[in-house]
Amino acid sequence: MNDAGEFGFELRTCRWAEREWPLEEPGDRAVLVARQLGTRDRRWDTIVLECDPDALRERATFGSERLDSDLLHVVRNAPADWTYYRDALPDPGYPWRYVRESIHRADDRGILETRKRANRIEIRRKWPYPDWLERVIAIENKPDLDASAARALGAQLEHDVAVALADEVWVATRATGERVEPVLLEDLPIEVGVLALEPETLSASVEWYPRSLAVDEPGTRILERPAGGARDGSAARFEYVEPDAKAEKRLEIAERAYERGWRSFVETMRPDCRHFELRATDGQQAMPYCGARGGCQTAAACSGSCPEFEPEPPAWRTRGWPIEGGPGKRLRRLLEARRRRNRPGAD
Ligand code: SF4
Repeated sequence: MNDAGEFGFELRTCRWAEREWPLEEPGDRAVLVARQLGTRDRRWDTIVLECDPDALRERATFGSERLDSDLLHVVRNAPADWTYYRDALPDPGYPWRYVRESIHRADDRGILETRKRANRIEIRRKWPYPDWLERVIAIENKPDLDASAARALGAQLEHDVAVALADEVWVATRATGERVEPVLLEDLPIEVGVLALEPETLSASVEWYPRSLAVDEPGTRILERPAGGARDGSAARFEYVEPDAKAEKRLEIAERAYERGWRSFVETMRPDCRHFELRATDGQQAMPYCGARGGCQTAAACSGSCPEFEPEPPAWRTRGWPIEGGPGKRLRRLLEARRRRNRPGAD
């Protein structure tokens, strides 16, 4: 399958997750879906966040933009009463002048109160930062998992299981309809769940349930593994990842997911190209479609360097332009409105 096919499959998995998660009894958890997020060493295709619905609504008071790790340090530790910032915040482990910058950024965003007393900056929280994130689910999308793709994927999944940054790790593959889905015959870690998804109809079956990973315990990051073979007697190199560091990283990823959702693909594409369309697949999901290529295009292909790129004609913009903008702007707004629907309380 080509890259465009994998990209389309990924968007369908996101859509499926938004409709169907959580898989067991529908509980009172809210769900947010995002794509292409992770750490420096590992990026997941699809991320599902299970959230406390009330806390998620409270999160919206901090705005729809993400809070990066520096802002999180400030707002999560900001006191209820006016306090000198160095007395209120834990030592950040880096120079305090960067903390002052974060304080000013938080103030500019209206999510922290500040004042100056005797040349000292005092801070006070506006609202407590809510505990909105409950679980993180990572899904790797591999519509056609042949043996060599499975080998490469197996190493990545071992890394995910060892670090245990996500609560669950899954592989989503295209359903073949065979009695035993071929993916089950591949040598994947047993902790990883397997989902067979039919992307056209969005019906899915769980072929293998994942194990919940120990996110509250130290994880192991595999830095180097021996190549194997008779002459390679070297040991794997690894390091531990402390639970606190994991919790912080999970929240940072969740904040980015909160900001981006999974429909943000359009931000890295060219909806201002005359060939760009959004086409409904199941009567609801807007998938990118390129009229020049006659199918779903990848974000990498749909860029300024695309040889078939043609700007949308000015005539498309005449009605209502520049207030309304052309079709490209309308498509962006449409996707943004759908993204907001999944962030309760966001304006
Ligand atoms: S022609 Fe190129 S830039 Fe235009 S929509 Fe197609 S892929 Fe995107």
